[in-house]
Amino acid sequence: MDFTLDAYAARTCAVKTQHLFTPGLTPGPVDESLQDSFHGGIDHVAHVAELLLAGHHDIVDLRETPRGEAESACADAMDAGVAVIMGGELQPDPAGHRRGRVNVLVRAENANTSGPAAYRPVLVKPRRIMERRVSGRENVWEVPYSPLHDLAHEPGRVAENRALRRHENDFIQVAHLYRLLETHGRVAPGARVAGIIGTDEVPGVEGPVVTWVDLDEPFLKTFSRSEPTGRKSRSPLERHDHEHAFRVQVAKNALGGGEPLVEPVRIRECDWCPWWRTCEPILGPNDLSARIDTAPLDVREIRTLRAMGIRTIDDLAGTDLESLLPKYLPEVTHRSQADSRLRNAARRARMLRDGIELERTTEGPIPIDRADLEIDFDLETYDDRAYLWGFLVHDRRSGERPYYKAFTSWTPMDDAAELALASEALEWLRDISTTARTRVYHYSSYETRHVGQLVGSGGTPHLDWVLPWVHEHFVDLYTSVKNNFFGCHGLGLKVVAQLGADFHWRDAEPDGLKSLQWYEEAVGAETAAERAAAQRRLLEYNEDDVRATHHLRAWLDASA
Ligand code: SF4
Repeated sequence: MDFTLDAYAARTCAVKTQHLFTPGLTPGPVDESLQDSFHGGIDHVAHVAELLLAGHHDIVDLRETPRGEAESACADAMDAGVAVIMGGELQPDPAGHRRGRVNVLVRAENANTSGPAAYRPVLVKPRRIMERRVSGRENVWEVPYSPLHDLAHEPGRVAENRALRRHENDFIQVAHLYRLLETHGRVAPGARVAGIIGTDEVPGVEGPVVTWVDLDEPFLKTFSRSEPTGRKSRSPLERHDHEHAFRVQVAKNALGGGEPLVEPVRIRECDWCPWWRTCEPILGPNDLSARIDTAPLDVREIRTLRAMGIRTIDDLAGTDLESLLPKYLPEVTHRSQADSRLRNAARRARMLRDGIELERTTEGPIPIDRADLEIDFDLETYDDRAYLWGFLVHDRRSGERPYYKAFTSWTPMDDAAELALASEALEWLRDISTTARTRVYHYSSYETRHVGQLVGSGGTPHLDWVLPWVHEHFVDLYTSVKNNFFGCHGLGLKVVAQLGADFHWRDAEPDGLKSLQWYEEAVGAETAAERAAAQRRLLEYNEDDVRATHHLRAWLDASA
């Protein structure tokens, strides 16, 4: 059968492939408002393209070239050995059922100089590809990279104290493009490597970098029936080959009019998928994957339950778990804590069936560590950078009303700017607490983890006092909530403060995702008035968050 799949197919839901090749089915329109969420990606690709065009003479830009023309132009550019090709469409591989367009092709150092030029595929993604990881005596954490002005892959050029984030889908996508190049004899001998240009910063390097990924390194954990542990680590190429082969099978079956090989499962991707109007009626209103939105069971877990006759919240709510688990658990060994995940899902199914949102799991008072000076604290971050440190200060000795204090930065931040803002906020916090017994309340471990990452990676001797101080003074209210409540829709601050403490935000639908859009406006809107309005909105949002933890504490403290 004559068809090809693009580089996205293997990384996305297999039901999409099935629908696409099922005669008579057509996708719905994509919601324009959802496309806004991709704008960060479009901006990042444009920014990287500008830098590449400015930094290279031997470069071809095919981003705006229509697909057919881009294919022949890309082949011509590769034949000519152009060093950098942007937006090139690779010639399809009908036998392997692959096609694909590449953000950037980088000419590789070619051992066989008489043969055709070899290339490495590079994706551009609007997220960090590396994470901070401090090397110790036993583990050395480093990731190979190249600055954009010098794209050669040199294994010795590494970002220290960094590890790859597990963006499995990106690795599968770039492995697809590598396979396509390989089919056309366009890859370099030796290590099989591809790149991703994310938003990472490497000390001493200006602008984004290419993070290089070893496509043969088995670092992606998957289910394995044959392994004693039930799990096996596989490489990006192995993961891609498996997922691609399955979708080829799905497409062939659909084209041949066979019974569907895959059924829809509600996942995050459904939010922006043009096939949702086809899948929603298939799922029905009480499907487990459609109704349980907190700690949702994954695709394999849902399919395992369906194979056992459990499809809806009523089915799961009425199931005897002790009989089910011995058959269920061997099929979901890819998940740690699969047992408790299923128990929690069953509890949520019962709550959904019975219309209950928040349950107390204990009895008696809930002790909260009180102090003379009580400070509620919340961080706002964008792309994992803290740009707003908000505090609600309540000096209980004075009898005065609590007041709000914020430290902000409304310009795009680098490592140094983030650290400078953190220093200002943390030193203020220490200074106001010198004369009183103080506790700083926050909700979830995110705040302490972020502070730990900022000051724990060395190079900030003036902040050496911070971690012991945090350890002594900070109180995570989420721990108290988690130890005493179970939430049908989780135990996020928005849920518990509204349902339990009856606190309400000024914004009708407070939402962390919206705050990301507001931040983009606060920093980058065209007019000063628009920027000021977005900044005000973020400050109100943050102030309401810390007032919410203040109310939550009072409510917990009054519990009996
Ligand atoms: S709506 Fe969801 S289940 Fe259906 S094809 Fe799209 S991603 Fe897959």
